[in-house]
Amino acid sequence: MELSQHNILTQLGEESGWLLVNLLSGEADQLGPEEGERLSRGEYENPAELTLKGYLVKPEEEARRYKRAYLDFVESRATDEVQLFYVPSYACNFDCAYCYQAGYEPEQRGDQDAVLDAFFAYVEGAFAGRRKYVTLFGGEPLLPNAASVRVVRRLVAPPVCPAVREQAGAGARLRERQVRLPVRA
Ligand code: SF4
Repeated sequence: MELSQHNILTQLGEESGWLLVNLLSGEADQLGPEEGERLSRGEYENPAELTLKGYLVKPEEEARRYKRAYLDFVESRATDEVQLFYVPSYACNFDCAYCYQAGYEPEQRGDQDAVLDAFFAYVEGAFAGRRKYVTLFGGEPLLPNAASVRVVRRLVAPPVCPAVREQAGAGARLRERQVRLPVRA
């Protein structure tokens, strides 16, 4: 037995311990500082539990599980719902210290009809017949002005977008709002 090559072990902080995740089994655990430290050196005391959760494996068995998961993924990819992103701009009314988008495009674009027309034409062609939804992303995509209203109105108009998911900026009170609309035949 050996530690899975799909484990991710990362330290959360000196007192908070460690986070152990296995991308193949889907398990995630928070470990204490000492247990995490030991595991980072390849040492452990609870092989039964680690094995049950896919952290400790027989490499040949894990290779088979990986192959099966990959084939399942390829098969479902053809029919799964597709997530598309539309970014009206990276303008935002917050100024979070950790923002990695601050230098992208601080000014909000005005009229986006031509861009949206091109976006819809691309979506209709590239994803015809597929279930799909659009995530409206920013910056802050719901800045209170006419351009934001126009973008949202156009995005929620069927038949192109059966659903629109809006992700407001990380600092906003509203983190996510999902609107599901019936698809027009
Ligand atoms: S809410 Fe998001 S986009 Fe706006 S400043 Fe904060 S991190 Fe950046």
